[in-house]
Amino acid sequence: MSNEKPCPCGRDTSIDKCCAPIIENQDKAETAEQLMRSRYTAFTLANEDYIMESWAPETRPEEVDVDDDAIQWIGLEIEECEKGGVDDEDGSVTFTASFLSSGKLCHLHEKSRFVKHNGLWYYLDGETGSETKKVGRNELCPCGSGKKYKTCCRGKS
Ligand SMILES: [Zn+2]
Ligand SMILES: [Zn+2]
Repeated sequence: MSNEKPCPCGRDTSIDKCCAPIIENQDKAETAEQLMRSRYTAFTLANEDYIMESWAPETRPEEVDVDDDAIQWIGLEIEECEKGGVDDEDGSVTFTASFLSSGKLCHLHEKSRFVKHNGLWYYLDGETGSETKKVGRNELCPCGSGKKYKTCCRGKS
């Protein structure tokens, strides 16, 4: 089955050629950035298993609770990568992930650290900061649809 929708991680390619093979363990993330993107996409799909699997064992929590009803993910922007390349053993990725929650637009800013174990990248930990803005009913929807917020995503979140 092919899925031609753009990948939620923001790359201009379909999810089947981007994050899905990594999330489904058919392919591995070559770089820390790829792992970061696949984890973001897993959050948008509320795929808790993959979020746990891609977490380094030394910092992995007991469980993750991805509440996909309360949050609507809007987009991911990768700002900076330090190391995290094919030949590196660690690295970090700075990004902003945006989501809507109860009528507010939130920008989660994080510098995540990644480590490689046995040739596979894992999320280690991150420093976060966030900023929240209320979205007016008549403002354009932050999802980029071009419609007013009240007639678009407001009903969903
Ligand atoms: Zn992707
Ligand atoms: Zn919308």
